[in-house]
Amino acid sequence: EPVNLIMIGMAGSGKTTLMQRMNAYLHERNDAPYVVNLDPAVAKLPFQANIDIRDTVDYKQVMSEYSLGPNGGILTSLNLFATKLDQVMEIVEKRAQSKRYFLYDTPGQIEIFTWSASGTIITNTLAASHPTVVVYVVDTPRSASPATFMSNMMYACSILYKTQLPFLVAFNKTDVVDDAFAREWMADFEAFQRALAAEEDETFMNSLMHSMCLVLDEFYTHLRAVGVSAMTGQGIPDLFAKIDDAVAEYHAEFRPALERQA
Ligand code: GDP
Ligand code: MG
Repeated sequence: EPVNLIMIGMAGSGKTTLMQRMNAYLHERNDAPYVVNLDPAVAKLPFQANIDIRDTVDYKQVMSEYSLGPNGGILTSLNLFATKLDQVMEIVEKRAQSKRYFLYDTPGQIEIFTWSASGTIITNTLAASHPTVVVYVVDTPRSASPATFMSNMMYACSILYKTQLPFLVAFNKTDVVDDAFAREWMADFEAFQRALAAEEDETFMNSLMHSMCLVLDEFYTHLRAVGVSAMTGQGIPDLFAKIDDAVAEYHAEFRPALERQA
């Protein structure tokens, strides 16, 4: 059965570059994926998309037609695309027998996809059809301070609870900064608190941060994480091994829950 992989992450975290790297890796192994671009505002794609939202909607035209700014333009384009989702799913379904992986790139700005009705509709539609895994891409060099690390992980946590889908964190750009610090902070609650205390002022640390640490500690216990470099290809085999684990979780937990609801 095919697997849907949805790339989610902050702007600039490397979703598009990582998707290109995964695409190249699969091509090398004669396992060419089906590639879908859901970012209407991307100027240039490093891969050949099988389905490209830009073929359906012209985001610049949407902006001027509806007098919208860039974010409004992207969101409206995604909404317009979502109204044709049944046609897209028909096309995708025709390929479901011959392709193993379906890769979905999402708009640069994370909230446009994760907190919009159309993003939710697209995610739920995919998850109802086949095993679907969220690949949450983290800009590791930019998460090297405890406070930015924590806010990025809180965001990941909220997306996990919102989508309820099998989830995988890809610490990207390990060619720049190794992800060892992140692994240590996730494994050792006290090491993280020490790093945080060294950076933040005491009162802030003691109140909000402390309770957030407790939430995250619980989140980390179930979290799959892998260090990768979209640039060099480091960690990509491990990423696919973790994706297999996540697919097993989809079959064990998500699918039965879906069938109970039906
Ligand atoms: P997106 O907004 O999440 O799609 O991010 P992009 O894929 O467009 O990447 C943003 C920037 O990060 C680009 O300049 C990429 O070249 C760079 N980038 C992405 N992945 C890596 C990586 O693994 N290592 C390094 N050094 N740079 C990367
Ligand atoms: Mg992108």
